[in-house]
Amino acid sequence: MTGNTFTDTFRHKGLRKKLTEIVRNKGIKDENVLKAMETVPRHWFFDSGFLEFAYEDKAFPIAAGQTISQPYTVAFQTQLLEVKKGDKILEVGTGSGYQASILYQMGAKVFSVERQRLLSTKAKEMLPEAGYLVKVFFGDGYKGLPAFAPFDKIIVTAGAPFIPEPLTAQLKPGGILVIPLDDLESQIMTTITKLADGQLVSRQHGRFRFVPLLGNKAQE
Ligand code: SAH
Repeated sequence: MTGNTFTDTFRHKGLRKKLTEIVRNKGIKDENVLKAMETVPRHWFFDSGFLEFAYEDKAFPIAAGQTISQPYTVAFQTQLLEVKKGDKILEVGTGSGYQASILYQMGAKVFSVERQRLLSTKAKEMLPEAGYLVKVFFGDGYKGLPAFAPFDKIIVTAGAPFIPEPLTAQLKPGGILVIPLDDLESQIMTTITKLADGQLVSRQHGRFRFVPLLGNKAQE
């Protein structure tokens, strides 16, 4: 990444405002989510040749055969997380680092784990340069991050065939896990809330499409 990557022009700001309005009109109501989306320059998470795609409401390929999620999907998952300032949040699937930056912008302490070495290394370099002080880890998200548990919230940004038990175990009582579930073409966005007595309550929120959450080992 060059210093150049971190310019943010009036044109970019204008495009971002429009994108935020599109996401609002699709039904996102959490003003803190919308504010973060209007603030974080999504084009910083793209290779410079593809900047013009950054402010479309679409997923886009990043390195290692992965994708940066569609802005609406990022907003939808973030809204379900009910982010509060100071929340300690685990993200599984760092990818470009965009989702993690949205959470950081909202005042969360963010821990993010990625199984592709290349993406993890890129994000570890780029995020602090861009001012997003996210803790990035290379590893298998199926295991969560036991050394830093428990978390107020956990967000999985890849399609999971089942709920990894370590993730619910690493959730605080009162905590929320947002996870797209199923190994089919599309996944059902699911929230798991851990009650004070440890009981888990699950709710479904419609279908989305994600790249798969792959097990069981990290990829060099
Ligand atoms: N949140 C990302 C989008 C990520 S796409 C962003 O904002 O750009 C899903 C990511 O999950 C990919 O980068 C993929 O490599 C990663 N992933 C898949 N299986 C994983 C696993 N078991 N542990 C950690 N990361 C995983």
